Amino acid sequence: MHNINQAPSAQSPKSSIPSPWGVGAGRFAPSPSGDLHFGNLRTAVLAWASARSSGRAFYMRVEDVDTQRSSHESACRQLEDLAQLGLDWDGDVLYQSTRFEAYEQALAQLPHYECYCSRKDIVHAASAPHSIPGQYPGTCRDLDEDERRRRRHALAQHNRVPALRLRADVEHWRIHDLYAGFVDGEVDDMILRRGGQDPDWAYNLAVVVDDAFQGIDQVVRGDDLLSSAPRQGYLAHLLGVEAPAFVHVPLVINTQGRRLAKRDGAVTFRDMEAQGGRGSVFPCIAASLGINARTPEELVEKFHVQSIPREPYVWRNRFPKP
Ligand code: GLU
Repeated sequence: MHNINQAPSAQSPKSSIPSPWGVGAGRFAPSPSGDLHFGNLRTAVLAWASARSSGRAFYMRVEDVDTQRSSHESACRQLEDLAQLGLDWDGDVLYQSTRFEAYEQALAQLPHYECYCSRKDIVHAASAPHSIPGQYPGTCRDLDEDERRRRRHALAQHNRVPALRLRADVEHWRIHDLYAGFVDGEVDDMILRRGGQDPDWAYNLAVVVDDAFQGIDQVVRGDDLLSSAPRQGYLAHLLGVEAPAFVHVPLVINTQGRRLAKRDGAVTFRDMEAQGGRGSVFPCIAASLGINARTPEELVEKFHVQSIPREPYVWRNRFPKP
C-alpha cells in the first residue's frame, strides 16, 4: 500500500506473526450477533477469494468484543455456515475475547485520556454551532486533574469507570482503498475502551491490533466500513504497524435501497439452503458476482479482485438464479 501520510515511525510490527505462506494474509471477521445473511456471506466469499486467488493465507476471526451483543452460540452457527458454504481457513479461529491483554498493551502505547461524557452529553455538545456531525467535540480532553478526580468519583458511585479516548494529534488521515482510491477521512478522539460497569474494548483498536498480530495485509470487507478505515490507518501508524491494503466491497441492498437485513425474507444461509437445496447458496453468490461457479474452487480460478461489480447488489426477495 502507498503511504502518503507523514512517515510512520520506523518500527516493524512488534506483535505480528508471519503468515505460514510468507505472502501475507486476508481474513473474514464477523461479529457473532446473529446468523449471517446473503450479504454477509457474499462479503465472506469475496474476502476468501481475494486472499486465495492472490496466494495469501486466509484467517477467520470472531469479533466478540461487544459482550452485550455477542454470543458463543452465534459464533458457532456462523462458522458452521461458512464451512458449509465451502470456505476454508488456515489455523485456529481467533476470538477477540481472548485478546484483552494485547489490547491493554496497545493502549499503553497510545496517548489517551479518560472521558466521563454520557451519550446524552455527546449528542448535546455535537448539536452546538460549528460542531462536526458525529465527531467527539473533545469535552474531556483538557480537564484538569481535580475535575477528573471529581468526575471519576461520581462515576464510581455507580460502579462505572470512564471511557478511554485517543488523544489524536491529527484531524484527517489518508488511506488507500483498491476501489475508492485515496480516501482522506476524519479522525477524532475515538474511543479505545468503552466506559461503564463492564467496559468493552473498542472495535477500531481491536481490529488494528489483531490485523497486525495475524499478519493481515489485505482487508476485504463491506463498504459501510470505509469511513472507519482512516481511523484504523491512523491507529496503525501510532502503533508502528503497516496498514493493510483495503478493499471495501459494495453491500447487498433490498429493493428499497437499504442494506439487506434479516427482515427482508429468507436470507440466512440456513433459510436459503432449506428453500433451494443443499449446495444452492454458493452458486447464487457467484452469480451475484457475475461468475458462473458451483464451488469455491471453481470460483477462485475465474476470480479477479479488480473485476467484481462495483454497484451494490440488489436482493429481489427471491432466490437468485445462478
Ligand atoms: N466485525 C465487523 C462486522 O461484522 C467487521 C469488521 C472488519 O472487517 O473490520 O461488520
